[in-house]
Amino acid sequence: LYRSDVISNEKGLKKTNLKDTIERKVNLTKSNESSIAKIDGIGKYQIRVSTPIIASNFCLECHSGLKDGDIAGIVNTSFIVDDTMLMIYNSMKMELLAIIGVASLIFMFVMLFSINSFTRLVYNMKIAVQSATDGNFAIRIKNQGIGIFSEATKAANRLLEVLDKSITSIDAKIASIFVYKKSSYSNNPLLRITELIAEITNLFLFKNKIEAAKHNSEVCREIQNVISRYIKYKYLIFSEIIDGNIVSGYKVDNNSESKIVVGDVRSIENRFEVANPNVLFDDEKGCIFISTSIEQLNVIDLKIFISDDIVFYYSIALNSKKDLIEKENSIVRIYNYVREARPIIRNNILVKNIEESSYTDPLTKAYNRLYLEKYAISVDAKLKQHANFGVLMLDIDHFKKVNDTYGHAIGDMTIRLLTDSIRKAIRSNDKLFRYGGEEFVVILEGCDMKDARLIAEKIRTLFIAAKSCTANSSNSKSDTIEITFPKSVSIGVSAMPDFSRDIWECIKQADLALYEAKETGRNRVIKYSPELKVKEAQKNKKADVAQDNQNNTDSVVNIDDDSDE
Ligand code: GH3
Ligand code: MG
Ligand code: MG
Repeated sequence: LYRSDVISNEKGLKKTNLKDTIERKVNLTKSNESSIAKIDGIGKYQIRVSTPIIASNFCLECHSGLKDGDIAGIVNTSFIVDDTMLMIYNSMKMELLAIIGVASLIFMFVMLFSINSFTRLVYNMKIAVQSATDGNFAIRIKNQGIGIFSEATKAANRLLEVLDKSITSIDAKIASIFVYKKSSYSNNPLLRITELIAEITNLFLFKNKIEAAKHNSEVCREIQNVISRYIKYKYLIFSEIIDGNIVSGYKVDNNSESKIVVGDVRSIENRFEVANPNVLFDDEKGCIFISTSIEQLNVIDLKIFISDDIVFYYSIALNSKKDLIEKENSIVRIYNYVREARPIIRNNILVKNIEESSYTDPLTKAYNRLYLEKYAISVDAKLKQHANFGVLMLDIDHFKKVNDTYGHAIGDMTIRLLTDSIRKAIRSNDKLFRYGGEEFVVILEGCDMKDARLIAEKIRTLFIAAKSCTANSSNSKSDTIEITFPKSVSIGVSAMPDFSRDIWECIKQADLALYEAKETGRNRVIKYSPELKVKEAQKNKKADVAQDNQNNTDSVVNIDDDSDE
């Protein structure tokens, strides 16, 4: 057997040479050659047929070094024959040659057919696996060969089909919970899904975190963390707008943080109001991303409508226009987080409102008694840490008369005038409670008896001077008139821990002092003193004796009544 150099090189085999003139001739003419040689001593002859293997198109699929018509190799076939066979051979030389040729052809054909099926299958499989590796799972291997070859093809096609279907289904499922641009991820669907699953995991962790957050400020910080994960910003401005007013906000600049200024938010709003803002992304619920690039300013603004009157802004400033364009793709990733956060933020606001309304009185917006019970627990804890408190008990004087003279509406307004006066006199961490109809309790943090009395005195004078505006119903034009009428308030004062370490007892003491204020002429502030308690005890004793006498008289009458019967 002779192998051409191309085949030897490809297979890494030892080179073979054309060993004699016959092989050289076959190599040159590319046609069969035969020869006869006598074998000395035994009277037999060797007939040799040399056949060239010529490369066809099919061979070129595996042997890229060959060209169509090249000699791939030479097969030598030898027969040992005796005189008789030689004679037959000589007389039928051509016919024999033809038989050998046909036999070789049939042999070659059978060999080629099986090799062809196998190599074609392997070749097609290689193409399919390569395409799948590149992310194309739609490709199928054409059914090749028979038996085991065909089964192998079918099994590989089934695998491709399962992969193809699973990926399409996973893609559709991800798209239903996650917004994403395919172009931002790997072209290969398997790699893309891996990247998306990583992001969805982060999103899930984010959601867990913000659900556990007690305040919306924590939720907003988490959104800011997400923004900084995807966008390296120069500075960031956050602000929360309720009914057009900034209620909170800050600017993060080089890791330092400053409070937001009104001007910053107005400039963000102006960018949204430009005729043709560069909208990068918006959803039907009112989450909008716009980008602006003018001179030194390169920003992506994010406006999130939480409800009709609540808006959150994030203004993300970048270093250059190039950064801005590059980061525009990140906004869809950030949007997924915002979408999860929005209902949680809204929920927190609702819960806060419900909680507030369950703890406040609708007429005066003062806390109610329910909240006093809750607050009492924290007062108790603070007392243990050596805090001190002043306690005021207030009651409007002759309030029945106000109602009777001016009507209930003016009565309500008078109650509000008192709470306005109290709010003017107290500090932000002091607490105002509506204790009864026109009775209020004020707990002043960090106050002793002396300070508490001064504040009470201030409230008393503010209330006397308080004026109120009301609609002038007698006038056709709906203007207002100012109403003033004599009014006053009596106030009892006590303090903790000076007179008690128990808030309820301290309120009782302030109430005793209030009673004393009423008794001694109203429109005054009276401090609690232990004598007031003694006085009350005596009064109660007297009342008990009077009651006993009354009961005794009643029972005498009853006995008489019974005897009458
Ligand atoms: P005193 O100086 O002794 O306190 O006399 P007073 O008339 O103020 O007596 P009291 O404090 O007992 O008066 C309570 C009155 O307050 C009874 C009730 O009609 C009225 N009132 C209670 N709640 C409201 C309210 O929400 N609105 C109005 N307009 N009146 C109220
Ligand atoms: Mg009262
Ligand atoms: Mg009263």
